[in-house]
Amino acid sequence: MSKIIAVANQKGGVGKTTTAINLAASLAHLGQETLLIDMDPQGNTTSGLGVEKRTVGKHIYQVLMDEVPLEDILMPTEMDWLDLAPAHIDLIGAEIELVNTEQREFRLQKALSRFQKVYRYIIIDCPPSLGLLTLNALVAAHAVLVPVQCEYYSLEGLGQLLATIDLIRRGFNPGLSLEGVLLTMYDSRVNLSRQVIDEIKKHFGDKVYSTRIPRTVRLAEAPSYGKPVLLYDKTSRATTVYLDLAREFLSRQVVAGVAEHKAPAITPSPEKKEADPGLPREQKDPSSEVPPAEPVPDSSQR
Ligand code: ATP
Ligand code: MG
Repeated sequence: MSKIIAVANQKGGVGKTTTAINLAASLAHLGQETLLIDMDPQGNTTSGLGVEKRTVGKHIYQVLMDEVPLEDILMPTEMDWLDLAPAHIDLIGAEIELVNTEQREFRLQKALSRFQKVYRYIIIDCPPSLGLLTLNALVAAHAVLVPVQCEYYSLEGLGQLLATIDLIRRGFNPGLSLEGVLLTMYDSRVNLSRQVIDEIKKHFGDKVYSTRIPRTVRLAEAPSYGKPVLLYDKTSRATTVYLDLAREFLSRQVVAGVAEHKAPAITPSPEKKEADPGLPREQKDPSSEVPPAEPVPDSSQR
């Protein structure tokens, strides 16, 4: 059983895609077999991994529309233990087309429940809205990771996101938990960043990850090369910090009793086949399997 994490915040440009790509790549680098699902019609996760989003043949829209199984759209990436379920620009239509379909909030969850391939982690990059695509991700997920930009207005809208998470818990997916709040684009020279952090900590306590993502140009450059930052510049601070995030993420799974984490301390290696093997598949501890998401009510009966 895979643990499914939605990376969500309806606020635009807060670092969802950057986090989805680089957390997934770092987890893969640490030996955790990971699938990254692009649920955003902007397709930035898809292009950020070097896949041309306009011409990609099979993609997540077709999965949501029940045209193909999720297995059929999987694409390998430059990293051994990271696969991609890409988005095409067509996905923009899904927000509207799904409105009149049966069980419209459960399309991704259904696809994942039929999915035979087991990954350790499935990371879903959500669009900047609380529309049906994000709802599908939240209904399918075990937990939601919320990137929050260190800026004055960052708390605005978080209440709405939390209310949505609550609604989904009550109506669709009782097992959905808050994985954590991740501070992004942090600038230690700016007083405001520290004030925002204090404010967020007041609200979310230990749900706030101690790893903070600094503002760094390498993270903005890497997508234009179609690479996660650890393949673009392995010695950069951005690479180190996203690996730190992955380690903190894994250690929080241990604390939560979800996973047995044995990821070693390593220096990143960009070469395919030479990525750190971390926890080999055959040595995975069966007791570390993630419990299935709680059964969800049938939306057609609401
Ligand atoms: P959207 O809501 O449009 O999907 P998003 O929340 O996914 O946006 P990103 O696309 O990850 O946000 O980031 C927005 C922009 O900021 C991108 O150009 C990205 O390269 C850049 N960026 C993200 N994180 C950082 C960072 N830590 N330092 C510098 N630039 C960053
Ligand atoms: Mg994005």
